[in-house]
Amino acid sequence: MLQERLDEIRERMAEASIRSGRRPGDVRLLAVTKFVPVERVLDAISLGQSLFGENYVQEAKRKIEALGDLRKETTWHLIGHLQRNKAKAALELFDCIETVDNAKLLSAINKYAKEKDIIFPLFIQVNLSKEPQKSGIFLDDLIPFLKEAMAYKNVKITGFMTLPPFSDEPEDSRPWFSKLREVRDRINETFYKDFVIKELSMGMSHDFEVAIEEGATIVRVGTALFGERNKKNEA
Ligand SMILES: *Cc1c(COP(=O)(O)O)cnc(C)c1O
Repeated sequence: MLQERLDEIRERMAEASIRSGRRPGDVRLLAVTKFVPVERVLDAISLGQSLFGENYVQEAKRKIEALGDLRKETTWHLIGHLQRNKAKAALELFDCIETVDNAKLLSAINKYAKEKDIIFPLFIQVNLSKEPQKSGIFLDDLIPFLKEAMAYKNVKITGFMTLPPFSDEPEDSRPWFSKLREVRDRINETFYKDFVIKELSMGMSHDFEVAIEEGATIVRVGTALFGERNKKNEA
């Protein structure tokens, strides 16, 4: 079952890439495993999936630690909101944090990265629609925030992540996805000497093809891979 779903998603990803004149290898599938038991994660690894995302530090810790030696074959992104007091734990567990959206968090991550003597990759979560219940930096604040981030020596901003307003209709997401790509391209042109933002993490189960057509480099897919989430599975 997982095999078929994975094959189908990979195929739809490749088709969306080709349709929009992109190379299929330019888009990575991030398997979202929140509420998915570790056994299913192991199944996915055995089917060649290597990039994973979790929303919660505690839940991720249980699963990632259970992987043992297989941890080395996988890459984990934090895709849920991160509280500053969990920044240290997140750094120990994850390879990238996609949800950086405030200066205090940035500073805390930089501090722990410095202690570990590493340069830690981060994405900025951008709240394009300014929905109040949603995390993320507003567009108007993005450039000042990026400049602030550049002053920190132990973090490196390598991407942007966004969650468009929820809609059942995938086409409704398209303007938000194209907006984020435009913003990234414009920033890269303006600041090309200082940094290059490559990654665009956008698109989920219901709209990942539209996201790929609009330039996503990472699509975050949960339900379409693992089925409907059941909170009781959180173990
Ligand atoms: C849960 C989640 C996803 C996956 O959503 P699906 O609709 O199940 O594919 C992607 N991104 C974020 C930030 C999430 O919280």
